[in-house]
Amino acid sequence: PKFFKSFHRLYSTIFALSSGQGKCGVAVIRVSGSKSVDVLKSLTGLQKPPPARTALLKKLLHPVSGHTIDKGLILYFPRPHSFTGEDVVEFHVHGGRAVVSAMLSAVGQIPDCFPAQPGDFTKRAFYAGKMDLTAVEGLADLLSAETEAQRKQALLQMEGHLGKLYNEWAQTLVKCMAHVEAYIDFSEDDNIEDGVLESVEKKLKVLAEEMKSHMSDERRGEILRSGVQVSIVGEPNVGKSSLLNTLAQRPAAIVTSQAGTTRDLVRVSMDLGGFPVQLCDTAGLREASDEVEKEGIHRAKAAAAKADLVLLVASAPLLPKVPLEQALQNYLKTCGLSINLKDCIVVLNKSDLIPDKIQELPENVILTSCESGEGISQLLSVLQNRLTSLCGDPSRECPTITQARHRTYLETCLEYLHEYQRSLEAEQDLVIAAEQLRQALRHLGMLTGKVSTEQLLDLVFSEFCIGK
Ligand code: GDP
Ligand code: ZN
Repeated sequence: PKFFKSFHRLYSTIFALSSGQGKCGVAVIRVSGSKSVDVLKSLTGLQKPPPARTALLKKLLHPVSGHTIDKGLILYFPRPHSFTGEDVVEFHVHGGRAVVSAMLSAVGQIPDCFPAQPGDFTKRAFYAGKMDLTAVEGLADLLSAETEAQRKQALLQMEGHLGKLYNEWAQTLVKCMAHVEAYIDFSEDDNIEDGVLESVEKKLKVLAEEMKSHMSDERRGEILRSGVQVSIVGEPNVGKSSLLNTLAQRPAAIVTSQAGTTRDLVRVSMDLGGFPVQLCDTAGLREASDEVEKEGIHRAKAAAAKADLVLLVASAPLLPKVPLEQALQNYLKTCGLSINLKDCIVVLNKSDLIPDKIQELPENVILTSCESGEGISQLLSVLQNRLTSLCGDPSRECPTITQARHRTYLETCLEYLHEYQRSLEAEQDLVIAAEQLRQALRHLGMLTGKVSTEQLLDLVFSEFCIGK
């Protein structure tokens, strides 16, 4: 029954409100499947479908009562050149709640039309071969992108740049496999050329190198996709919460002159020059006796360890008069933080309270005042630089891994490639070695979801000229 249900769902006609929920100017209702044209005819009274991809203004009638529901635009996208690959119809109507619900109930009157489940339209596009899995993920990311950089990365992935790269690799692997299989089947044959295995080995080496360099990306794409975690840490009362509020431009965290005010983590999401940032204010680090404060400090240290970037805040007037580097190393120790100073952005706050300014600070150390605003724009620009190098710049030439799923399959694929190499070196049976290649390809195929080993082998074998 479960199979039948999903089968039924995949082949029935589906419909849904495709624009946002709630009151809006225009609402789009989308219908996909073989009954789309029936829906169109019933609601408009047209005898035949309108020209493809041309908007027409029509009265929309309820199929049972015959009453006019609204006047709106209709659009017809005949298969296979539609988003789902099926016949698709769109109604652009006024966005009021009552109009939308009357339209949905009207479409539901047509036999074999069912409300779509989340992701149903895209699922059909995937099964129709319109997009591979990476493109589907790109589309999902585009729908939830909140900043410019996220939008760019998602768009490139939706357009298939990541999928294209993975497909090229899969093709290379398939060719290598075909050669190895041919070697197994025809090695006694005089027709097979010498050096087949050696040339496969060379190709696989190049492939493995390409995969490795694709993977040594410091998780840039993943960080951009999920947002950069920035933790603000330091001793109590140095201005961490004030800094969070200044950067967020709103009083998200409570600021008092009392040490130990911030106890739990306070998170704020923001867009910094197109990059998504999750700022996290933490409890001040000191020896605490209070149980709640202890737990807060524990969380603060964990947040510092987990962060993509740490803003280490210290009070400029309280900094001892020793060389800066040494003062900061000591400060890390007093805070009980085991992080690298070079990886932090150091914020020396309360600069308004020191008479003579510290000269010549290293690039990652910034003198600020949350009172006067001094140094804040400089901090923002240093932050921006760090974000750029953390997230990278997604480009057509070098699409980046955006999900842990990609990395896992790539790692497994690489392992199998190594296994193949090891098998050969151990002079194992070539049939067993070839199985490692097959596994490598299978895992690469899972990235795009559209490569079945057998399919690809058929394709290549059909072109592969053995007798040559
Ligand atoms: P936190 O404990 O590190 O989060 O520090 P808060 O942000 O709560 O600030 C502690 C106290 O320092 C408050 O009274 C703030 O008003 C004050 N403060 C914060 N930043 C500055 C600054 O740049 N200059 C001066 N003069 N006071 C500040
Ligand atoms: Zn605080």
